[in-house]
Amino acid sequence: MLCHGDMVWGEVLALDRSVTDIFLGPHVEVYEDKNGTLNLTELIDKENAFGWFMPESDILNFGFSDSVMWLKLKVRNDDPKPLSRLFEIAYPILDYIQVFFIRDNTVLESYLLGDKFPFPARMVKHRNYLIPFELGPSESMEIIFRIRSTSSLQIPLNLMTVRSFIEKNQIRTLGFGIYYGVMLAMVLYNLFVFISVKEAAYLYYVFYVISMALLLSCLNGFSFQYLWPESILWNNQSIAVSIGSVVLFALLFTRKFLELPGNKPRMNQVSIYMVIFFCVQLLLCYILPYKAVIHLVIFTSVVMIFFSLFAGILRWIDGYSSARYYTISWLLMLFGGVILALNKLALIPRNTLTENTLQYGSAIEVILLSFALADRLSTEKISRYGAQLAALRNEKLVHQAQDKALKLEKEARLAQEEALDIQKRANENLENNVLLRTRELEIANLRLRELSTTDSLTGLKNRRYFNEIYYKEYNRSIRDKTPLSCLIMDIDHFKRINDNFGHLVGDECLKEIAHAIEIQLHRSNDFLARYGGEEFCALLTSTGVEGAMQVAENIRACVEGIVFKVRGQNVNLTISIGVASEIPDHKKNAEALLNQADSALYQAKSTGRNQVTFYGSDEGNIISLSGLNTPGNMNEN
Ligand code: GH3
Ligand code: MG
Ligand code: MG
Repeated sequence: MLCHGDMVWGEVLALDRSVTDIFLGPHVEVYEDKNGTLNLTELIDKENAFGWFMPESDILNFGFSDSVMWLKLKVRNDDPKPLSRLFEIAYPILDYIQVFFIRDNTVLESYLLGDKFPFPARMVKHRNYLIPFELGPSESMEIIFRIRSTSSLQIPLNLMTVRSFIEKNQIRTLGFGIYYGVMLAMVLYNLFVFISVKEAAYLYYVFYVISMALLLSCLNGFSFQYLWPESILWNNQSIAVSIGSVVLFALLFTRKFLELPGNKPRMNQVSIYMVIFFCVQLLLCYILPYKAVIHLVIFTSVVMIFFSLFAGILRWIDGYSSARYYTISWLLMLFGGVILALNKLALIPRNTLTENTLQYGSAIEVILLSFALADRLSTEKISRYGAQLAALRNEKLVHQAQDKALKLEKEARLAQEEALDIQKRANENLENNVLLRTRELEIANLRLRELSTTDSLTGLKNRRYFNEIYYKEYNRSIRDKTPLSCLIMDIDHFKRINDNFGHLVGDECLKEIAHAIEIQLHRSNDFLARYGGEEFCALLTSTGVEGAMQVAENIRACVEGIVFKVRGQNVNLTISIGVASEIPDHKKNAEALLNQADSALYQAKSTGRNQVTFYGSDEGNIISLSGLNTPGNMNEN
């Protein structure tokens, strides 16, 4: 027996096989024990003194409350067969749940549930609280729930068959599977991207997604079931810690992703303070009681969402294209967060939609953020490619310019070489021409000189040239101390030949005689010149008196022997020769020898012509060699 007084039960919930899944919200009566001091006996004893109330909603939602909530319900099996049913409280983070099965004021059974007890202690190993019971035909049963929690006091209480539960659970599990699958994929993908590109934004994103998935898994009871089933203390703090790390990593990600340090210095400064604060907050989440920090983290997450949203919009306005996805995703997150907060604060009813907004919102947000990261990566890549392309193009242009410069240089070099070649050839030509012209000039000069020194009629050297040679030879003879002889020859009565036969014949005669004289001079050093009109002069070097006389005589004889015919007439030709000889020395006058020869000639003329006369060193000692013909004798036969 539990109590003395009779418990007054409200409307009895009649069960039969058609009732497979119902929300118990409208069917239970609720009593709020604000002090949390009552036990079951006291509750039942004082039942009449306290006001029970019937909530209107399907799901009981009392927000954050320190009160102990008592729920009572009476069920009756109207079915002819025994019924097997389950109570499900689909809110895994409730701290303490005590269930009493009462019949006839006797507690038949009682269970203790809640996340303040190790998970393995649960009757049914499920993330939600499941309490099975059986009811025989026509049997009635009173059930009392005592619930207390530091978290938001929400009591989604269902009554269902096992089959309904399995069917419903399957759908929900699939949904969670998709959700955690998406989160895991995003974590792995962005982790690989981070490993590859080594950019902090990816790592923050990965931690953000992990924190978000962890938060959801705490709220859904999975983490307690699978990750730390025995760690009650940690489980108690885990939600606050998850939220703390969500806001911290979200902020770190925001800072990096939106490039606040380089673009929004003031917002960046604020974000740094916020990061420091969030770090401290995260630490507090570990050490302070859940109740003390949960409101703080919920508040800071709202601040964080607004900050991120504001920063995203500003960067979007800046023209930073990747900020679009970012801002939209945070809008969704804000929406989800606000709905959840309102839900937890019991300002809006708890239902499938409001309960799962965070899950849907965070999944979509995480996907959108991943898009944003990819967009950013591709934008960066495009700009990097652009830069590389530009660099390549520049390099190509430089190469082209270099090629062109090289080509031009080569052309210039070739042109230069050609120019040099032309110049060289021109120089060579010029040199050759100059050489040629010089040679020609030399020849011409030689010729001129020869002409100027030669008598054109006889081809002998002229008097001017004789004079040059004379002084040279005279000086040489002085040096060599050798005798030098001079012969001056004059044709006898030549005037007559001109007079008789004309000057042309005279000229021919002159040539004939010149030739005759020439052939009598055998030595190479003997020198003959036409001395005047019909006078000749011979210079015999290294020749003494006797030699000179001999040569003179030979000449005279040769001239005498010339057979010169004019118009069939034989013309006799003779010549008179004056000879002078001496061994020259400095004391002597060079012209003296010539004068002596001239004197000797004069002598020869005056003593009969056709003879050779020597002018001896002694005055008046003249030796004459006479020819056969009488001087002045001319045969004109
Ligand atoms: P000689 O010497 O025996 O006393 O008598 P000559 O007749 O030779 O006299 P003279 O020496 O005075 O005459 C020289 C002449 O020679 C004068 C001129 O008519 C002639 N004569 C001089 N030079 C040339 C010449 O180049 N050609 C010709 N045809 N006659 C010349
Ligand atoms: Mg004469
Ligand atoms: Mg004469």
